[in-house]
Amino acid sequence: MLVQRVQNQLADWFGPEVHRWRHLKTYRIYHALPDQSPPTSNPVYPVNRIRSGVFVCGEHGSLPGIQWALLSGRRTADALKDHLYGYPPIEVKGGAGC
Ligand SMILES: Cc1cc2nc3c(=O)[nH]c(=O)nc-3n(C[C@H](O)[C@H](O)[C@H](O)COP(=O)(O)OP(=O)(O)OC[C@H]3O[C@@H](n4cnc5c(N)ncnc54)[C@H](O)[C@@H]3O)c2cc1C
Repeated sequence: MLVQRVQNQLADWFGPEVHRWRHLKTYRIYHALPDQSPPTSNPVYPVNRIRSGVFVCGEHGSLPGIQWALLSGRRTADALKDHLYGYPPIEVKGGAGC
């Protein structure tokens, strides 16, 4: 049963007291996440510079995942520093090196 499986996983995180928690309600959210079947987009896409001094960052155009959103933010901050102060961007090695 779903509630039991969720409680078992939460017990791994928070300990046995979880089994004393009372289930209130289950929501089924269809299409909560976009389709991520391969082939997927390249998460290390170029920084999205809309025009001089205007940047956009986030997971859109990348892969849906917190690490990719963070990487996008890091790369955009580097581009902004470069734009404002002429600092060259720090090379990010590997996918999630943000
Ligand atoms: C149900 C679900 C489960 C997930 N589980 C995981 C997981 O387990 N692990 C994982 O790594 N990732 C997970 N993700 C993906 C992760 O949440 C996203 O990749 C991440 O939050 C993207 O961050 P972001 O900053 O790019 O965008 P968002 O977090 O979507 O932030 C965008 C923000 O911009 C605001 N905004 C939008 N339009 C405007 C506007 N016009 N003006 C002002 N503000 C605006 C929005 O309100 C929002 O606050 C999950 C996503 C969902 C939906």
